[in-house]
Amino acid sequence: MTKLHYAQIIVDVPTMQTNQPYTYVVPESMIESVRPGMRVDVPFGHRHVMGFVVGLRATTELETNKLRHIKNLLDLTPVLNTELLNLSAYLAQETFAFRISVLQTMLPNALKASYERILKIIDDVDEDVRDRIFKGLDEIVYQPRELNVRDIATLTKLRREHKIEVSVNVTNRSKIKTQLAYQFNGDIAFLEDERQDLRPTAKKQVELLMFIMGHLEEVWVKKTLQEIISVSDAILNQGVEKKWLSKKKVEQLRDPFSMTDIIPTTALTLNEEQQNALNHIVASFDAQQYQPFLLEGITGSGKTEVYLQAAQHVFNQGKTVLFLVPEIALTPQMVRRVKSRFGAQTAVLHSGLSDGERYDEWRRIERGDVKIVVGARSAVFAPLNNIGLIIVDEEHETTYKQTDNPRYNARDVALWRGEYYQIPVVLGSATPSLESRARAQRGVYELLRLTQRAGGAKLPVVDVIDMKATLADGPETNFSEQLKNKLQERLNRGEQSVLMLNRRGFSSFVMCRDCGFVPRDPNCNLAMTLHMDSHTLKCHYCGHEEPIPIICANCGSNRIRYYGTGTEKVEAELATLLPEARVIRMDQDTTRKKGSMDKMLQKFGDHKADILLGTQMIAKGLDFPEVTLVGVLNADTSLGLPDFHASERTFQLLTQVSGRAGRAKKAGEVLVQTFNPQHYAIVYAKKHDYEGFYKQEMAVRHAGNYAPYYYTVQIQASHIMENETAKQMIQIARWLRSRVDDKVIILGPSPKPIAKLRNRYYFQIILKFKHRHEMDVLLTELQNRAQKSKNGLQLMIDREPVSFM
Ligand code: ADP
Ligand code: ZN
Repeated sequence: MTKLHYAQIIVDVPTMQTNQPYTYVVPESMIESVRPGMRVDVPFGHRHVMGFVVGLRATTELETNKLRHIKNLLDLTPVLNTELLNLSAYLAQETFAFRISVLQTMLPNALKASYERILKIIDDVDEDVRDRIFKGLDEIVYQPRELNVRDIATLTKLRREHKIEVSVNVTNRSKIKTQLAYQFNGDIAFLEDERQDLRPTAKKQVELLMFIMGHLEEVWVKKTLQEIISVSDAILNQGVEKKWLSKKKVEQLRDPFSMTDIIPTTALTLNEEQQNALNHIVASFDAQQYQPFLLEGITGSGKTEVYLQAAQHVFNQGKTVLFLVPEIALTPQMVRRVKSRFGAQTAVLHSGLSDGERYDEWRRIERGDVKIVVGARSAVFAPLNNIGLIIVDEEHETTYKQTDNPRYNARDVALWRGEYYQIPVVLGSATPSLESRARAQRGVYELLRLTQRAGGAKLPVVDVIDMKATLADGPETNFSEQLKNKLQERLNRGEQSVLMLNRRGFSSFVMCRDCGFVPRDPNCNLAMTLHMDSHTLKCHYCGHEEPIPIICANCGSNRIRYYGTGTEKVEAELATLLPEARVIRMDQDTTRKKGSMDKMLQKFGDHKADILLGTQMIAKGLDFPEVTLVGVLNADTSLGLPDFHASERTFQLLTQVSGRAGRAKKAGEVLVQTFNPQHYAIVYAKKHDYEGFYKQEMAVRHAGNYAPYYYTVQIQASHIMENETAKQMIQIARWLRSRVDDKVIILGPSPKPIAKLRNRYYFQIILKFKHRHEMDVLLTELQNRAQKSKNGLQLMIDREPVSFM
């Protein structure tokens, strides 16, 4: 075998200049140990830094006597596999991020610096190793800097032979929970002799011995063992004395999503549409072909059942499944369903996990102990090998996009991994993103549709209430007469209701209370944002600015107001309107504490409350059979978003929240309060007509040169001086304009809706263009220049931003 003497290393120095692999010499003593995906300690400039080995070579064109040497290995086994290393290169380019940042993002926190790592002997090792490296102990803290290269090589080898184990000490030692277990003897002849010697009356001892002989060398947790064969502690202790088995401490993995009340389920008989969808997915898996599917199925059409049965097929062929959901905390019922089908072979990764819990799950996945990983955005980097199917549920959700560096979209990463493994990727939604639906139109994705509710339930009737009428002849209120009456009705019948208040977000806008008119800017046709400091309305795409109108441009009324309200205010009003109703308020304030959301949902599910009042977060994935009324208090807030996605988000939200009503036997009803009852997003949502909405919205996007007809990049910059930000951004815009042809649309610079944040001033430029990568070179150059200049400007580039706030 040729010796791989040169390592390509990405160093932990996140700058543009160092954003490339450096070549280092692998010392002879490390050649057997080093592998791509391991972290190393290398000299860099005048210091030592951490680096990732991304490749190994036998030769190099560089002058070898000038190359520096790897100082030490920081891992005994790779923390990233080849696939993920490749993915990091692609993502760095795609997101205008440094490769080191992407690599770090892929790892659980516990594997990042500062955490202690523990080496534990788990099998026979040489006395010399035990004495010299382990100082006679079973366990030591791994300090690469204190070990010489030869010792590390020895440890790498032992690790590969499973004679030692590496674990991470996340907070302190006592946090690692252990439990008592027994290791059975493996010497069948000895055990046979022992059995001959036993008196037949020693029934319990015989039982234990027989069990051991049936499970030679296995390790059994004491509790489990005593559940299966009811032997007392005394019997077990006698067994230990006689060397039938030996005591052992094993690590008890913390189960982050322990759901004790999970009842196993089996596959349902699919209806024709479900079966058809499943057949296509399975066929693509069997053909070992990359194929993205768009599973467009109305709420309650049984998409989940299709996912689960596709997953089962994949397991049967010995492969694994990656299952992404928008946000685990909001979809506990989805996790429950996966767990009840696949049990302990499910790993759940979500943002509520502590570093230690997350690391435990990560290790189970890496060891191959799980078949399916369910998780939110960052779970897309789960170290699964052998993936056979990737599912992205609610693919239109913006939570798949990371808003910090690196700004990746998990949906795109899923597609990349799917192509790498040549497998099907299923994107599912009742309201697909326009981008995905358009790709299905062009045949890039295969479209699979579920048009009926499974299990026979009916879609709820949606009524739209015109709030202009309510407010015309009454005081300011959040409740129309109709909604009040329907709520009362539910109370009388002992049924439950869900009320959704569209959260305002960061930006606000004005709306005419008499006609629902929202002032839009003449260039971009977007709702303008209220800026109280300058008393103006601004379009922050193109920078257009005008005074706040005193009378409505549409109807001449003078009741043009700032629009928005909070959940607390609504809760108070509800208390006066329906004093006997038991209300649960669910918003960012009340759900901040870990686990509180699950508790609230549990409480509502147990019918210990009549009304669940919440923000958008309640629209997602909840499934309560007793809910027969869903009320949307203010559909207009999302229509007033200063973003070209405003109509799409409104349609999605209304569809999703309507899906919460009448999930089971009892028919459901939905009331939508709005000042704009004629808006097409509301009209199509009322009719449950995604396809109709899609067609009309595509025309609107086409007319406005928006996605999916154009690609969008947002350039954002901030500085502590407002005029400095503006000045720099004007220069950048000018520079860009001088370098592109006039087919590229450049909007701005303009101040962001939240213009000032943490003492910095934010401006943005928006680029729209036709070919996905046509701006890459220019944008990379821009980032390069921004890095080099020392003027205090912070610049970020965001491809396909999901929010323009
Ligand atoms: P979706 O994920 O598309 O919103 P779900 O998977 O939640 O839909 O299905 C809605 C309901 O219909 C669930 O209660 C589910 O158990 C039930 N269901 C799904 N498929 C079938 C089927 N083939 N036969 C009977 N009931 C089904
Ligand atoms: Zn504009």
